[in-house]
Amino acid sequence: MDKPQRHISVGILTADKVEFSLEGGYSCDGEAAQGGMTAVMEDGQVACGGRKAPRMVFEAAGKDSFFTLKDVTIGVDFHWQRRENQSFKGNLILLAEKEGIIVINDIGIEDYLTCVISSEMSAEAPLEFLKAHAVISRSWLLAQITGTGKASGEGKIETPKELITWQDHDDHEFFDVCADDHCQRYQGITKVSTATAREAIEATWGEILAYDGQVCDARFSKCCGGKTEIFSTCWEDEDKPYLKSFRDKFCETEDASILTNVLPNFDQETKDFYRWKVEYTFAELSKIVRERTGLNYGKIVDLRPIERGPSGRIKKLKIVGSRKSRIIGKELEIRRTLSRSHLYSSAFEVEKTPEGFILHGKGWGHGVGMCQIGAAVMGHLGYTYKDILLYYYRDAEIVKEDSLSI
Ligand SMILES: [Zn+2]
Ligand SMILES: [Zn+2]
Repeated sequence: MDKPQRHISVGILTADKVEFSLEGGYSCDGEAAQGGMTAVMEDGQVACGGRKAPRMVFEAAGKDSFFTLKDVTIGVDFHWQRRENQSFKGNLILLAEKEGIIVINDIGIEDYLTCVISSEMSAEAPLEFLKAHAVISRSWLLAQITGTGKASGEGKIETPKELITWQDHDDHEFFDVCADDHCQRYQGITKVSTATAREAIEATWGEILAYDGQVCDARFSKCCGGKTEIFSTCWEDEDKPYLKSFRDKFCETEDASILTNVLPNFDQETKDFYRWKVEYTFAELSKIVRERTGLNYGKIVDLRPIERGPSGRIKKLKIVGSRKSRIIGKELEIRRTLSRSHLYSSAFEVEKTPEGFILHGKGWGHGVGMCQIGAAVMGHLGYTYKDILLYYYRDAEIVKEDSLSI
């Protein structure tokens, strides 16, 4: 694929010492560079191969050029965290900053997306589903780098009685997106053995979701639980016309083989996400909330949903303790506060028992935009990627990126 592509910069890692190798043709300052190299910080600059500079660029000669980084940590702080060597196409940029050497990959958007699709999803997933994912990931990316997806940012409203907070993708200072789940999972060409991911990118080249002449902020989550959610339940109070709440008739599936085909291995350990249940004694929950918030509520005696989004996700929850009570929100803050990791979602009913609480929940994730499980089922049933996209992003249009003035 040698069609012209817009370029983006992806932050891969930061380290004091970077070991890498260059294959298939690279140059630095007009001189050929090849094979194994080590870069270290020296006098506040990058020192590598006899050169020293605050910013060093290794330019790829062509589409067969790639570089391999040694010992990249992936899945930071998740149970699947591990180190592996990773290879990337495109240019390699080393930047000297006070945190160390920042390793940046400058690459064409479509090549980047091919890697993202095969890092996020299983290679066995239905092609139409992967095509839908390609359009969504491309839209999300363009919304980030052109600014339409940055509006929400972070928010926090804090008083003694209330804490309403939400987090969105922060801007990165030295590059457009990072390589981890914070932005989109990007593990280079290591995983691109899948012809399907490439086919999905080729078939949707340059296509994005747009609404009213602007690229859509195309959110997605694992499983809505039967009804999708609106933007303001999770992030700032400004709903997007293409992110509506509706009954999703596809994601309730008994067919375990669909999930096996779609989800990466580590996600398959989670089986009961459509309807789930979490039980706590009063003592357990009181301890968890104290650890998670740093606040002593005393014994937590009640959990009262104050406001819910249309999918049933709780937006504001009152935690009533023997020493202190407080309203918390939004969706993610509730999930984080009531669990040692995160509750699957904030769409739960509270049952009080003599011993404590039972939370009866629905869905996995924020539920806004595309429901990955529902979309995978649609792909499996023979719907096209356009059907899938227009089912989850109502009233949006699928257009070519270059038809918008972005
Ligand atoms: Zn990021
Ligand atoms: Zn769903």
